[in-house]
Amino acid sequence: MDNKIYNKLGICDEVLSFSEKVLDELKERFIGIDETAEYNQCKVISAMQENRVNAVCFAATTGYGYDDVGRDNLEKVYACCFNTEAALVRPQITCGTHALAVALSAILRPGDELLSPVGKPYDTLEEVIGIRESKCSLKEFGITYAQVDLLKDGTFDYEGIKRAINEKTRMVTIQRSKGYQTRPTFSVTQIGELISFVKSIKPDIICMVDNCYGEFVEKTEPSDVGADMIVGSLIKNPGGGLAPIGGYICGTAECIEKCAYRLSAPGLGQEVGANLGIMPAFYQGFFMAPTVVAGALKGAIFAARCYEKLGFRVVPNSVESRHDIIQAVELGSKERMLAFCKGIQAAAPVDSYVTPEPWAMPGYDSEVIMAAGAFVQGSSIELSADGPIREPYAVYFQGGLTWYHAKLGIMMSVQKLYEAGLLENGLL
Ligand SMILES: *Cc1c(COP(=O)(O)O)cnc(C)c1O
Repeated sequence: MDNKIYNKLGICDEVLSFSEKVLDELKERFIGIDETAEYNQCKVISAMQENRVNAVCFAATTGYGYDDVGRDNLEKVYACCFNTEAALVRPQITCGTHALAVALSAILRPGDELLSPVGKPYDTLEEVIGIRESKCSLKEFGITYAQVDLLKDGTFDYEGIKRAINEKTRMVTIQRSKGYQTRPTFSVTQIGELISFVKSIKPDIICMVDNCYGEFVEKTEPSDVGADMIVGSLIKNPGGGLAPIGGYICGTAECIEKCAYRLSAPGLGQEVGANLGIMPAFYQGFFMAPTVVAGALKGAIFAARCYEKLGFRVVPNSVESRHDIIQAVELGSKERMLAFCKGIQAAAPVDSYVTPEPWAMPGYDSEVIMAAGAFVQGSSIELSADGPIREPYAVYFQGGLTWYHAKLGIMMSVQKLYEAGLLENGLL
């Protein structure tokens, strides 16, 4: 590689040669990622062909959005690709948390209990559920919450789950990705086993999977292994970096109808909701998503191997199998977190000249630092890093619309730590 262009971007020769050594060791893994991307690309194209996607689908609608062909057909494409009866894919779903809140409140009624058999859910769901007090939480509507933590080795506590399921248990929520924790992310196979177990105890429990960051990482999705609903954000994987807003819920026809009634109004459901001209980005983003996810995965594995070599704990490590695009790096101090994020920011195509600062973000209970220079604000399928400023001072790194940008971001983070003298053993 021509070092000059990297030198111009601020990467020194020492960091470059360190990176090249790391990359030499990752060739085999990258071939596996490309193979999954190829399969998922075919899966998306097949769903689009089967539903006869054409130019009419890209037309804008306004007002009520009755007979919105593009919107209705996109939902068929999602359902087909994710192997579900129905789907709700809308710009009116503002983010992943909103999609999850819609799915939960569509199913749960006063007196029902929600169970998380996989430990604490994602930070923003604490207020949705009422684990942390909030106005309009499920708790305020008389819906209780139970949680079974994972065993020490990160596996499911089947005995505990069996004990926790009772006559009130109406719904189970399973978060695929680790979120802001350092537990492992679950494979689709593991999720399938958990769902089968839950349904063997109480067959009518609705199993929802928070699929954020997991889409297209494997060849199957949780909806292929028994989930009644999978839920996610379009400014993560399935938006392919092009969707400027949105969320999706895919699942059984009955669940999706309830979600649509909850999202709009009872009686209206899926028939209203103009697309406002956003359809080209939704279709094209979904088309791009498998490739974008592959680039993000390569970036995550590259980061894992770099930081492992530099002596830090990384989750997952650079050889284990991957089930989401998130890479946690335990940096052990606030200073290193800041330097890492500075590097990610400095490598961005947008806002590269700003310095990220920790702030008290709505929905999170400690200060959070975020680095992102994204075309879509806050998009975390674009190269970004964030993390709560608390033990073990872990940054969660994710995204990259292209592998080359992800690579540059990681090299730049190493560069900033190196320059600041924050690498105890230098670059080895
Ligand atoms: C990002 C994320 C959410 C919330 O999505 P937002 O779009 O940030 O509201 C929920 N669960 C998990 C696991 C996530 O990664």
